[in-house]
Amino acid sequence: MTETRRMKALVLNRPGDIAINEVPDPGEPGPGEVRVRVGAVGICGSDVHYYEHGRIGDFVVEAPMVLGHETAGVVEAVGAGVSGLSPGDRVAMEPGVPCDECEVCQSGRYNLCANVRFWATPPVHGSLAEYVVHPARFSYRLTDSMSLEEGALMEPLAVGVHACNRAGVKPGDTVAIVGAGTIGCVTLLAAKAFGAEQVFVSDVVTERLARAESLGATQVVDARSESLAEVVMDATGGRGVDVGFDCSGAPGAPGILLEAAARAGRVVLIGMGAQPVTVDTVAAMVKEADVFGVFRYANAYPKAIELVANGSIDVAPLITDRYRFADAVSAFEFARTPRPDTCKIMIGLE
Ligand SMILES: [Zn+2]
Ligand SMILES: [Zn+2]
Repeated sequence: MTETRRMKALVLNRPGDIAINEVPDPGEPGPGEVRVRVGAVGICGSDVHYYEHGRIGDFVVEAPMVLGHETAGVVEAVGAGVSGLSPGDRVAMEPGVPCDECEVCQSGRYNLCANVRFWATPPVHGSLAEYVVHPARFSYRLTDSMSLEEGALMEPLAVGVHACNRAGVKPGDTVAIVGAGTIGCVTLLAAKAFGAEQVFVSDVVTERLARAESLGATQVVDARSESLAEVVMDATGGRGVDVGFDCSGAPGAPGILLEAAARAGRVVLIGMGAQPVTVDTVAAMVKEADVFGVFRYANAYPKAIELVANGSIDVAPLITDRYRFADAVSAFEFARTPRPDTCKIMIGLE
């Protein structure tokens, strides 16, 4: 008879009902795995959405589920065959573990794996808990200069890095971004780090525009009173942008970015809206614009960590609110109706 160890975790019991509960401890790491004492977890829009609605698209919460997927912590134990990580190492953890076997996994685009197990995507438990056990290959050591909070921010930053990789952002490029929430901000930071020279950012919230400006946007556009496409065309002498990123999911955004795009430009869809979007495809054809989607990220964590470690990107200003793990329920309450200047809410477990 072995006594099951227990630990505390933030559990979504049913929509609108979360609590810090005792759940089974994940135990010792198996081959290729590490056991990590969780130190910082960021609250993501998806966590809040599951909390409020219990589902995102086809993913439905049918049993109590631990929330959280933006995670960093300290390695406590390593399993057999793990090299390159040892107890005491601080790591950022990539939350999706793909199957490795399918066609997209084999091609390297493992973010598209239909069999991925992604933290806090039902029925997979998340990481807002005292401990997690995770594959070592998806646990990336942080440099000494990086905090665990910054480590947790590697998850959203990986989205921005992956989007810029997909778009092929290169030095000198001109970029437009619709939406200055967390994902708009990390896309802005990544685009600048990839060498983008001019970056236009639009939003409908004054505080978000101010943040985008402080993070390095060359021009911000209040979409309530100005047209992003007009501002871009004015500022670029009618040329348009090399790359447009929609980080809003707003129904009008793809059309606006096609209007703002240069000939042979690219429009990248990152933000997911609640409703299907209709686009004038002729606008894409006459410019030979490439329009494509981005889903999460693949192979982006090392680059995200490198860009923060070498000082190209400062993610710390994205954190606007901090809560202790004991107050995680309050943190989620706050996340439902944040202030206009709220960006990332970070939960500290240390
Ligand atoms: Zn996230
Ligand atoms: Zn796969």
